Amino acid sequence: MKYCALASGSNGNCYYIANAEDAILIDVGINTKHVELRMAKLGIVPSSIKAIFITHEHTDHIRGLAVFCKRYQIPVYITAGSYRGSRLHLPEALLRIIRPDEEVEIGSMTVYGVPKYHDAQEPCSFWVSNGEINIGVLTDIGRICDNVKHVIRQADVLLLEANYDEELLDSGSYPFFLKNRIRNGWGHLSNHIALETVLAYRTRRLRHLILGHLSGQNNKVELVRQTFVPYCSKIKLSIATRYQETELFDSQILLPQSTPETVVQQVAYQAAFVFPE
Ligand SMILES: [Zn+2]
Ligand SMILES: [Zn+2]
Repeated sequence: MKYCALASGSNGNCYYIANAEDAILIDVGINTKHVELRMAKLGIVPSSIKAIFITHEHTDHIRGLAVFCKRYQIPVYITAGSYRGSRLHLPEALLRIIRPDEEVEIGSMTVYGVPKYHDAQEPCSFWVSNGEINIGVLTDIGRICDNVKHVIRQADVLLLEANYDEELLDSGSYPFFLKNRIRNGWGHLSNHIALETVLAYRTRRLRHLILGHLSGQNNKVELVRQTFVPYCSKIKLSIATRYQETELFDSQILLPQSTPETVVQQVAYQAAFVFPE
């Protein structure tokens, strides 16, 4: 599978995942012109995108959605709550309302919705599988629920939020209520919680960890790197930033699994989590 972050950060998110001829985007949180420019740099053709999956209605996830989906006539998979919260009016022909734990087949890939804790109407994350490689994209994670653990346990490739450094957030200029909104269990993961979570739940399957959704004010690329490097000697480590797209990664060039078991067991996804009212 091929995958990249076209943009990642608290100001805009857009992730690309492809298997053979089939490609999807998760979120379109930068404007269409930038999506097009960044795709062009990686040799990705917008018309190859078969579906767009939206995690939730916050602007950094939908900024470019309406223009992009209409320009290329791409169906948008979104929960009813996220759609309501977005206040967008997308053409009915392109709208696909999903449950937050829905499974959707897009050509040779299956996209699994993952309900999560976040201060939005009906948010979910997604992981994507071609039956062999599992790619998890976990951003805007309020807390480490069973669903998050489940995705990490079966991920070969994991894009995980490392949103803020606890000291920078604490000493920074954000008003108190905003600081609390970020760290109250409905906001984002700090660098250290992200690290502890990866160390607790990763398996030998995990071969590529990408940290993303860094805060502009409360985090630094170098801090994220320093936090994770000591624990990632056996896997590929990348940091996705707001400034530019990552390279277009190919799962085929990742190091082989350190386990002799070459048959990868597909674990059926079961929502072990009821989304709270
Ligand atoms: Zn976000
Ligand atoms: Zn959000």
